[in-house]
Amino acid sequence: MTIEELDRAHLWHPYTQAKTAAPPLPIVSAKGVWLHTEDGRKILDGISSWWENIHGHSHPRLNEALAKQAAQFEHVMFAGFTHRPAAELAERLVGVLPRNLSRIFYSDNGSTAVEVALKMSFQYWQNRGQAERRSFVVLDHAYHGDTVGAMSASADSPFTEPFRPLLFRTERVDAPYCYRCPVGRERATCNIECLYSLEGVLAAKGDTIAAVLVEPMLQAAGGMIVWPKEFLEGVRRLCDRYGTLMIADEVLTGFGRTGKMFACEHGPVRPDIICLSKALTGGYLPLGVTAATEEIYESFLSEDRRKTFFHGHSFTANPLACAVAIASLDLMCEERSLERVGKLEALFRARIVPLRSVTGVGDVRVLGGVVAVELGTAGRNDRHGYLEPVGPRLAAAFLKRGLLLRPLGDILYFMPPYAITDAEANWAIDQIEQVLAEFRAS
Ligand code: PLP
Repeated sequence: MTIEELDRAHLWHPYTQAKTAAPPLPIVSAKGVWLHTEDGRKILDGISSWWENIHGHSHPRLNEALAKQAAQFEHVMFAGFTHRPAAELAERLVGVLPRNLSRIFYSDNGSTAVEVALKMSFQYWQNRGQAERRSFVVLDHAYHGDTVGAMSASADSPFTEPFRPLLFRTERVDAPYCYRCPVGRERATCNIECLYSLEGVLAAKGDTIAAVLVEPMLQAAGGMIVWPKEFLEGVRRLCDRYGTLMIADEVLTGFGRTGKMFACEHGPVRPDIICLSKALTGGYLPLGVTAATEEIYESFLSEDRRKTFFHGHSFTANPLACAVAIASLDLMCEERSLERVGKLEALFRARIVPLRSVTGVGDVRVLGGVVAVELGTAGRNDRHGYLEPVGPRLAAAFLKRGLLLRPLGDILYFMPPYAITDAEANWAIDQIEQVLAEFRAS
């Protein structure tokens, strides 16, 4: 039986049940930025799998770290046990994270890293005797994952729509989406007036807010929205002024994606809690981290066992994932990944920014190793967001050319592994130009 036949019999894939959805691609191997299909096609992974991969697929160093750890032991529960991969990774992370973040809590993926951050900040206030701080402020266009807490903290979208009655209430405030400015200003002349809505909520209800949760500098699934760094600075300033916690969801932006090790460094600002996953293991294995300050950690230390953080997953701190994460951090140093992302950003700016004047293109955005091209629908009020029908049509056109891209509705983006060569990146951008020209002509 082929993979396709086996798949059709029993599998249920994420996000692709629509009768019109393209069938899943059977992959038999992957190396560097290339995926190889069962029928012999070669496809450039232009989205780093699902935004995780940074060093390229099947990297010998990561393979070796995985095999070495597997030969030692594969897993042991983490409540009441510890091991070198988890402890060493925590030390390495604390060495690169903003200096105030010194406690590492492990979980399994990006959504659980966010769930942990929400629960941790919520209980922190209870443990400190301020149980009235029980609400969260989140941003328009936010996406924090598919679990119930993460969905509650995300913007309304087709992903959350069926579950709305199930979700807890949060305070929603403006995001700095400059192309569609929520307060009708122009970036060149504005004073980040979009921050007023966060300030208004904190001024009115600050005493009831447990934390402000943001995706710093790049709101990804909500449309690859790139922030002015002044907004990030403003969030930290307002959290300080109103005495609430700032949670940075760096599940996507962590480990160099925006050109800095962590997007918070663009301020720079120091969040009270940071959520990490995806590139944490170089894109190899599921692992989540929620890092917190010593002060937050200490609020859970007590003679009173009810103050304990009762949250733990079976595979917490999986040694295989931790060992690969350590090797990935080594590789980031050896391969000078941050420099590489800087060079990619320069290449992207040179090639993509001129597209802004092309008919049919509304906006282009570049930050670190991420490029977004928003098609020109600024004035339209019948946009369907992720469900814009042009998305799957564009994806199919790229796939035919051997390039994997998954536009978010009418927002096309390119986010390859840092291991991509200049020639490969230029080839991919040629395809983007050509497909946009084809779509304009049709
Ligand atoms: N947070 C952000 C910013 C994300 O982009 C994502 C996934 O894309 C998540 C959380 C959820 O991560 P996961 O898919 O690993 O649950």
